[in-house]
Amino acid sequence: MYDLIVVGGGIAGLTVAYRLRHQNILLLEKESVAGGRTLSRQLGDYVYNAGAQVIMGGQSPVAALADELGVARTLIDKTKVPLFFDGKLYSASSQAGLLARLPLSLPDKLRFGLGALRIQRRYGPVAHRAFDPADPRIIELNQSTAAEFLGSLSPDLCKIWNAIATISDGESIDLTTAFHPVMVMLHFLDQEYAVVGGTHQLTLALGRAIGNHLRLGADVREVRETETGVEVTANTLTGEESFQAERCVMAMPGPITRSLVKTLPDWKREALEKIDYASQTSAAFLLDRPSEQWMGTGVWRVPIAGHRACAITDPTFFYADEVKRRSGQGLLRVYTGDLASKELQTLPRQEAMDELRRDLDQIFPGIAAHVIESDIAHWALANPKWRVGHTEIYPSLQAPAGRIHFCGDYTSPGYMNGSVLSAYRVVDELGAFR
Ligand SMILES: Cc1cc2nc3c(=O)[nH]c(=O)nc-3n(C[C@H](O)[C@H](O)[C@H](O)COP(=O)(O)OP(=O)(O)OC[C@H]3O[C@@H](n4cnc5c(N)ncnc54)[C@H](O)[C@@H]3O)c2cc1C
Repeated sequence: MYDLIVVGGGIAGLTVAYRLRHQNILLLEKESVAGGRTLSRQLGDYVYNAGAQVIMGGQSPVAALADELGVARTLIDKTKVPLFFDGKLYSASSQAGLLARLPLSLPDKLRFGLGALRIQRRYGPVAHRAFDPADPRIIELNQSTAAEFLGSLSPDLCKIWNAIATISDGESIDLTTAFHPVMVMLHFLDQEYAVVGGTHQLTLALGRAIGNHLRLGADVREVRETETGVEVTANTLTGEESFQAERCVMAMPGPITRSLVKTLPDWKREALEKIDYASQTSAAFLLDRPSEQWMGTGVWRVPIAGHRACAITDPTFFYADEVKRRSGQGLLRVYTGDLASKELQTLPRQEAMDELRRDLDQIFPGIAAHVIESDIAHWALANPKWRVGHTEIYPSLQAPAGRIHFCGDYTSPGYMNGSVLSAYRVVDELGAFR
């Protein structure tokens, strides 16, 4: 009998297990490698992130965790603010400079510029705090859709806000609340860090620190609270196995949690039923010449307005000039929001990659001829969707149900930061039972 079983070896479950690694615990992870949505891959001489790309904030929970684990991170030294708009890449060294260059009417420039300033002043402080559903500013951002929050917009401003919204939770401003596009805008303007060697280094380091407590290839099929503890049944490499523990932590997206736990009380099941995830697809294209040829210098991420691809990033941005010179190659990562991803997931792998290569070619004409190799990753459960009314269900999403505890990004917004904070909340909850 274990003190604790953690189900799910993404950054949330790994962080819980890492904090409690000196106890009698077990972490069960379905895949042959832990990390969940933090996986990184290699194409040519470069590593790119198929999932999470950046650590948001230099003093954030994930930044602090990386430092504690000795995982190197590097400031993304963005010297340009770019946007792909109306068929052309615009970039400048400041937001004001970009706004001046964009082919927008003067009223639209004023409206966007003043709106962005107001957002930074009023909501900037909440971007760096743990999500508090009772904070009046959080309530303001979540009580209407982003379109309602932003008021009537010209078609051009609508395109720009939709580009920002789609990058965040994969959905347009008519569907998502204002919270996510606003947080994304604030984080883009803030310090962002990349993990040296790819984001996966962070979760691999957590896995190493946990050692034998981590069991890979354990596909959990059922979790049940019993009279004396919790029973977890999994298909493992040796067949079906049953594990007993005093308590259990479910550390995976809400819809999976809902399907695995068979003893959920109604209040918990109802809260979990309200959580839906947006899909995202990311594809990487290895090029026969440096990425800067298309992106320009100092450009790390380009939001794309009015297109199926919602952003392009340059994974070679962090590599020393000498490495890039020696390689002579480039790499670009393209990603899409919810609807486009769902369509791409219905296609065979090669066709989906070809579709995105055609998209890339529309953005940078002629680039398709320079693609040497490509790769694609679909994330059916990429990021939780933010809907009006969600702030009210946080207490129910976070609360333990009997001996079962819940963490992961759907219980605490903020992407990896949210997952890590949710892991710390669960560790505190467990302490209260000892
Ligand atoms: C394309 C993309 C880009 C992103 N970019 C960023 C970014 O730049 N910065 C940022 O902070 N965040 C980003 N995110 C979000 C971030 O990746 C997630 O918020 C975070 O990694 C979620 O971690 P988690 O541990 O809560 O969940 P997960 O990573 O989903 O972990 C859940 C784990 O549970 C396992 N599991 C599932 N079912 C079972 C089962 N039956 N039995 C056992 N194990 C199971 C899974 O294999 C997985 O390892 C991005 C996400 C995506 C998809």
